[in-house]
Amino acid sequence: MQERSTDRPAAVLAESAARAPAGERRVVVLTGAGISAESGVPTFRGPGGYWTSADGQGFRAMDLARASTFAREPHLVWRFYLERLEHVAKVRPNAAHLALVELENALGDRCTLVTQNVDGLHRRAGSSEERTYAIHGDLGSVRCAVGCSRTVWQIAAPARRPGPAQLDGASGAPPPGLACPRCGGWLRPHVLWFDECYDEEWFRFDSTRAAIAAADLLMVVGTSGATTLPNLVVDSADSRRVPFLVIDTEPSPFAVRASRSPHAAFLHGPATVCVPEVVAALLAGEVESR
Ligand SMILES: [Zn+2]
Repeated sequence: MQERSTDRPAAVLAESAARAPAGERRVVVLTGAGISAESGVPTFRGPGGYWTSADGQGFRAMDLARASTFAREPHLVWRFYLERLEHVAKVRPNAAHLALVELENALGDRCTLVTQNVDGLHRRAGSSEERTYAIHGDLGSVRCAVGCSRTVWQIAAPARRPGPAQLDGASGAPPPGLACPRCGGWLRPHVLWFDECYDEEWFRFDSTRAAIAAADLLMVVGTSGATTLPNLVVDSADSRRVPFLVIDTEPSPFAVRASRSPHAAFLHGPATVCVPEVVAALLAGEVESR
């Protein structure tokens, strides 16, 4: 796929620059599990996307990430999320996350980051809350499971919440650290589960659609587009002939689409290499156009 032309990404960047007056180009970046995999966060759907509970039972991650499962077995679901949270706390943002912070710092409001990742690595790298749309939520946030309020809280610090092994499921009551401060019922992870819908208040659905509708360039990093909103983002760009770049280590459906489109390119390689290169080229183009 890369043989088509080695300067194809440069042509896509030039096409995007030509769409907007100097200093007005708007960029949307969509990121998925691939960008965090290079930090050591296991992907949800890949071959390692299985989870075995403390009692040796095997579960598919996609079965645990459901409101219906949480309603029956909150201990089990929380054990899964607390393990993920402990793992994420040990890894660090990588060069791709950092390059996207640099992009936001240079473009300000002209840059929107839409992420499917719940690991919080973009936030920890330095991407701003207001310009980062966490469309699938955030592992480090919680809210009341029965919705006694709409408030989203940061999860209690490790010393003030149970560890995954301490959740034995023997009692129905939530342990300290996982109890709602208002009603005393269970808190739940503030993530979008497979049997739930996108919305604006918590998951920035309308904001994401508005950002892509105004974009002059879309950069897609490490996502195969297995869920609705990422597909909608790429469809919207493609149908409006907005130039787009797809960065992935695999020839994902988005990569195949980019390879076939006259106004897109597929960069086949690691995000930690390709994203800093694209950001540097994009910012060099910004300077030239002034
Ligand atoms: Zn509550």
